[in-house]
Amino acid sequence: MTEMELLIDFFVDAERQGPGSPSDTLRALQFIDLEQDKPLKVADIGCGTGGQTITLAQNIKAQITAVDLFPKFLVKLNLKAKETNLQNKIRTLKRSMDDLDFNKEEFDIIWSEGAIYIMGFAAGIKKWKYFLKTGGYLAISELTWLSNLRPKKIEEYWHNQYSEVDTAANKIKILEKNGFSLVGYFILPESSWIDNYYKPMEERFDDFLRKHDNSELARKIVNEHKEEIRYYKMAKNHCSYGFYIAKKIG
Ligand code: SAM
Repeated sequence: MTEMELLIDFFVDAERQGPGSPSDTLRALQFIDLEQDKPLKVADIGCGTGGQTITLAQNIKAQITAVDLFPKFLVKLNLKAKETNLQNKIRTLKRSMDDLDFNKEEFDIIWSEGAIYIMGFAAGIKKWKYFLKTGGYLAISELTWLSNLRPKKIEEYWHNQYSEVDTAANKIKILEKNGFSLVGYFILPESSWIDNYYKPMEERFDDFLRKHDNSELARKIVNEHKEEIRYYKMAKNHCSYGFYIAKKIG
């Protein structure tokens, strides 16, 4: 197995593949002011196994296109959609987020939790804007510095993980520069990292290692995630996910 295949195996049975929670998704949704007399067209980009997709489908009248590069995640999402009787509201699409071929202004809402970093915040916003109606909303969670002061060691670690990690002020500038107006922002609480993401992850470590005969690559994945957890705990006052909700104005 390649490292990517192992990573997919490590995450495929998880409720989420990144920090977040149903209450964060609902909180972000509250900033969105759209008529719902006909179903809203929503794209959920980098949906993973669909933690947030299911919450969205349960709470808005919508037709959701859930996009991810990895079919195994989409299979899980389709199963969950069936189990919750939401299969008519959710369509899955295997596609890379930087190679989407949706129509111009096709969507009322573009949603993406913990995934835009894969192509970069600025690049993602510029590309996805084309698919969003004027007056439509972007809702994105993204690694964010909580102030301008932070220890060097913390800065280096998260910067190595994601070179575009920045303050909310700078993220908002990027949104505004690209014709978006911020309508809401909040910081994900610690419980969305620990209870919803890291604790369930820690519970999977042993089984994952056993399943893969304690291979070098499997140990590498576990060790890297243990280190990430250590850094999150050390730096939680300096770094979190910010949730940005912005309206397309121009
Ligand atoms: N939104 C989910 C959540 O919060 O639980 C998943 C977030 S996870 C950190 C990032 C997701 O992006 C993964 O599901 C991964 O498979 C997906 N992904 C990675 N590269 C991608 C790409 N090029 N295009 C689309 N999705 C991609």
